[in-house]
Amino acid sequence: MMLRVPGPTPLPPEVQQAEIRPMIDHRSPEFSQLQKRIVGRLKHFFQTENEVYLLTSSGTGAMEAAVVNVLSPGQRVLCVSIGNFGERFGEIARIYGVEVIWLRFANGEVASTDAIKDALTADPSITAVLVTHNETSSGTTNPLAKIAEVVRRFDKLLIVDGISSVGSIEIKTDEWGCDVVVSGSQKGWMTPPGMAFVSLSPRAWAAYEQSKMPRYYFDLGQARRFAERGQTPWTPAVSIAFALDKGLELLEQEGRENVFARHARIAATARAGVRELGLKIVPQDDANASSTVTAVWLPEGVTEAQLRGGMREQNIIVAGGQAELSGKIFRIGHLGYISDAEIATVLAAVRTTLSNVAAAPSTARS
Ligand SMILES: *Cc1c(COP(=O)(O)O)cnc(C)c1O
Repeated sequence: MMLRVPGPTPLPPEVQQAEIRPMIDHRSPEFSQLQKRIVGRLKHFFQTENEVYLLTSSGTGAMEAAVVNVLSPGQRVLCVSIGNFGERFGEIARIYGVEVIWLRFANGEVASTDAIKDALTADPSITAVLVTHNETSSGTTNPLAKIAEVVRRFDKLLIVDGISSVGSIEIKTDEWGCDVVVSGSQKGWMTPPGMAFVSLSPRAWAAYEQSKMPRYYFDLGQARRFAERGQTPWTPAVSIAFALDKGLELLEQEGRENVFARHARIAATARAGVRELGLKIVPQDDANASSTVTAVWLPEGVTEAQLRGGMREQNIIVAGGQAELSGKIFRIGHLGYISDAEIATVLAAVRTTLSNVAAAPSTARS
């Protein structure tokens, strides 16, 4: 089976081998060395001098960690949402008693920096901005550098969901001034699900000191104390750390800029290929289209089940739509371990699927 959903992503054989290494003590010098090596490489991809903390959780755990460590109940926060994962970020904050001011954009659209400027001008009591870098549900990438510039100008804390971008799409955490950035192991990192990463700027640590949010498992103060000795406060997913170490080594060998270029190139091939089939991409402007996932409107008369089922018959797993896009789109994940040849195979299978559906009796089409 060829797994082409936007996480979990396929594993290189070396990563699979690394994951089944014999277990080690997470309080041993071997683990400390492993953690320090992993964090060093993550910092390279996050483009930050700040420490990156390892959490044993899915990406959503890191989003929750971001919320509970730097925000407080009753605080007003702007949530810039361009899709389902933006909704999730604001919802986590709301559940924790944060007063969320929503700034929503239609599926396939990116956030308007003017609208963010207006929202921050209209309500000076807003203290932080939540934003998704790459909205995986619609295959749309926000202009984060420009958004960050506006947020910096207003001197607000910038909290970024970079789960499906960091490691695959450029993000300059320090240069752009992103205060909190999170990612997850099963996206571009060529690693199984199970670990998430979070970086905090000195400004974010100052907010941590002020924060009145209850927290325990995700208390990053604990993570900071243990990171000094190359450990995590609680038992980490050691096998995922083995795998991650190898995945990062492979990414580093390829070279950060080459990794970004490969993702951009493969995404362009994916878009050209689906357009050749007469299909439409969800983001209308290619400048906003994601390098890690391509979201495509289902053509008239083709259901999500037919498309995904037809692909599955050819041993390729693609994703459907989420929330209001459910049943309307399909999504091809192309992040992490993916080659140019593989995306060509996926496109050929989409073509075959569409022609099979068109040839089938119309009764089977509803
Ligand atoms: C995958 C993803 C998440 C959720 O991550 P989980 O690991 O499933 O918890 C959140 N945000 C974005 C942008 C994602 O792509």
